[in-house]
Amino acid sequence: MHILVTNDDGVYAPGLAALADSLRSLGDVTVIAPDRNWSISGHAKTFNRPLRAQSVDLLQGVPCWSLDGSPADCVAFAFLGFLKQDIDMVVSGINPYPNVGSDITYSGTDTAAFEGALFGRKALAFSLDSNGQHTTQDSYSTAAQIARLVAASTLSHDLPERVVLNINVPDRPFSELKGIEITRLGKRVYHDTLVERMDPYNKPYYWFGGDPPSGIPEEGTDIGALDSGKVSVCPLRLDMSAVDLHQNIQSWGIQLNGFQQD
Ligand code: MN
Repeated sequence: MHILVTNDDGVYAPGLAALADSLRSLGDVTVIAPDRNWSISGHAKTFNRPLRAQSVDLLQGVPCWSLDGSPADCVAFAFLGFLKQDIDMVVSGINPYPNVGSDITYSGTDTAAFEGALFGRKALAFSLDSNGQHTTQDSYSTAAQIARLVAASTLSHDLPERVVLNINVPDRPFSELKGIEITRLGKRVYHDTLVERMDPYNKPYYWFGGDPPSGIPEEGTDIGALDSGKVSVCPLRLDMSAVDLHQNIQSWGIQLNGFQQD
């Protein structure tokens, strides 16, 4: 087995080393990760400039490269010829913040996994339900163990193509986890505000500020699982089409016939 490990927090983030280290017992591990933080960057790809990769000493015996591109770039880069050995599974993380509900379209952690699924491989994204305070590899040990557990199971079972497993782990010792729940996406509530300030030349500049997002801990959802101390395993499809709405939208009667063109 050959597992590609990446993240969106950058190659030196402690969650990446913790993840790569924990997966070594499952097969060959190669790490290709962004050279800087790409959190909240969405499914970005780089087509307007060249990319450069640099070898990095991360873990002994684990080949590791830092790439000056996005999380999805790292995955495509591996599949499109940089790695000569075929890849069986892409694993992304461990993110130091949760990725639940609609976070998944913002998340570089998840979109790196989406890219792996676009290449027809199994793909997992791991996030820790913490507030980014962890700075050591050790502080990711519960999530790293869950990663090994879920990754081993994923390797030995069938999954349809273009599916990603999005996993969120409570920030507590392994022995205090309340279980593993298969979930759907919950409803995230954002509290972003636009903060305007003045620069030294008296021109305004803007930040997105405000409190961190909260969410509705409904039963059966990823947010609900974390709220009750459980690991959330939420299967996602890249096919986001809402076939159940076809009839509704068909009934609007949008037609070319009779439309007054400009
Ligand atoms: Mn991140």
